[in-house]
Amino acid sequence: MDDFDVLRREHKLARLENHILREFVSQAQPEQAIELLLRRFVPKPERAFAALIERGSAGTTCAFSRGLSEESAQSLLLSEAEHAIVQQARMLTLEGASIDDSSLVAGLTQADRAKIRTLHLIAVGEPSQPIGVFATTALYPTGASAGRQASLAKRLVAGVTARLRGERALREREAELRLTSEMLDLRAVADQRYGNPVGLIEAFLAALAPKVAADAAALFLFARDGSTPGPAVARFGGPEVPGVSARWKQYEETLARFAVAVDRPRAIDAKELPRYGIESLMGSVLLLPLRRDDQVIGVTVLSRGKPIPLTPMEQSLATWAAEFLAHAIPRVLSQAVFERQARQDGLTGLANRREWDRCYSAAFDEAFRTGAPVSILLCDLDRFKVLNDTFGHRAGDETLRIVARTFQDQVFRTRASDPALIARYGGEELAVLLPGFEAAGAFRIAEAIRQAVQETVVSTDGNELRATVSIGLATFPAHADSAEVLVARADMALYEAKMTGRNRVCSAGPLDRPAPAERPSSRRTVRHDPSLFK
Ligand code: GH3
Ligand code: MG
Ligand code: MG
Repeated sequence: MDDFDVLRREHKLARLENHILREFVSQAQPEQAIELLLRRFVPKPERAFAALIERGSAGTTCAFSRGLSEESAQSLLLSEAEHAIVQQARMLTLEGASIDDSSLVAGLTQADRAKIRTLHLIAVGEPSQPIGVFATTALYPTGASAGRQASLAKRLVAGVTARLRGERALREREAELRLTSEMLDLRAVADQRYGNPVGLIEAFLAALAPKVAADAAALFLFARDGSTPGPAVARFGGPEVPGVSARWKQYEETLARFAVAVDRPRAIDAKELPRYGIESLMGSVLLLPLRRDDQVIGVTVLSRGKPIPLTPMEQSLATWAAEFLAHAIPRVLSQAVFERQARQDGLTGLANRREWDRCYSAAFDEAFRTGAPVSILLCDLDRFKVLNDTFGHRAGDETLRIVARTFQDQVFRTRASDPALIARYGGEELAVLLPGFEAAGAFRIAEAIRQAVQETVVSTDGNELRATVSIGLATFPAHADSAEVLVARADMALYEAKMTGRNRVCSAGPLDRPAPAERPSSRRTVRHDPSLFK
């Protein structure tokens, strides 16, 4: 190529550059200019990508991209250190192994990662007023020298910077407005009247979760002595599949236990979760400590299934919400704990014995009055003393917690019209109250519980344990005519289950309802009356 050729080429590139810059300036909307820039660098999104990564107060986010899947774009992050390096160098080109070292690559899907042969990082904004980084796998125009491409890229990025600043200011104002309106919404939820304090917190979590795209939200309170938190005081969402739901709650509890040592909002991403023993289901978590008077009184665990971290706006809202909960309604919180504690068993989160007695007596009175059936299951873990002696009391406690969870999952599945109640009846004894259930239906639930417990693996301190449970069932009015006799009959059935090999369900009487003497024939006639089908 002679000098003239070079000159001609330079001239052509300069004209092209001017043309593009003019094009940018002529765009009415800032985002159109940025779209144009992206399209210039990435004409074929299936082969390359470019993204504008903005740095905000809560880290970096991908504001615009082309050629990236939604998942990649949402998890595209740049570490603070790398951002600073690019801002200083103004432009960096990564090749070979240095690509994998970049924080940018970590969140990419396989398909998007495969688009990178080289990765160019160009500083956006002046070092004194940085905006972020423009990342692109390809430079423009193809065929020009690398030096020429680089300087064009820098000039193009500089060309959109001013517009970007304007656009960003606009977006920030919009986000602020949205944030304010979300906050007002949440305040309104808290201002409503609820039957009990826990109801308020549940409603608040239910309102908050969708606003920050969380699949589940759970609030835990810490004991004053710093001991590990018990079950969630209130929670919302999460999967409804029984086994999966139990696992999710277990993860939340694990995170809450960890959160005792956390004093500021903390995001945990998909890569970090396995460190807490969370290998599946959850993809992203935000822990929001509830602080009051310099003391962390609890934590809200927000979790998502997708490995996408919360956006800065979502984080701001969630952080505000946690502060609001901790400050604006401390009375509600302490009252909630007090009320819960009065009704709840501390270890398992099930109803305690007092609550059982209250509910059982009320359910029985109701059944007696209406003639509707009520069944109870008395359940006792098998050879629990041996489990304690072999693996320790802590493993025993953990087993009780997990078994309680399994009970909840199985009973939750029944979706009975009258609410069932599960209680910690005694040490390793649980009881289930099933209003509206005849013996046959109650037996099916008991059998489902028995099987689920047998199949549940309890992992504690490196051991994998399994427990089994024996269950005695009795039904009113089929097997007893008073509340006291009903319990005694269930207890005898439990004894029979123990005596006949354990890990089984025994009923106090026949499972099929003994037909009332005066009714059966007329009933059968009605059902088979062919005239009904004419
Ligand atoms: P089985 O019921 O099958 O006849 O045998 P078992 O060993 O379960 O019965 P037993 O009544 O002899 O023992 C019950 C054991 O349960 C003894 C006690 O240490 C244990 N236990 C009761 N409450 C708790 C608790 O809260 N935590 C732990 N870890 N163990 C408990
Ligand atoms: Mg016992
Ligand atoms: Mg036992």
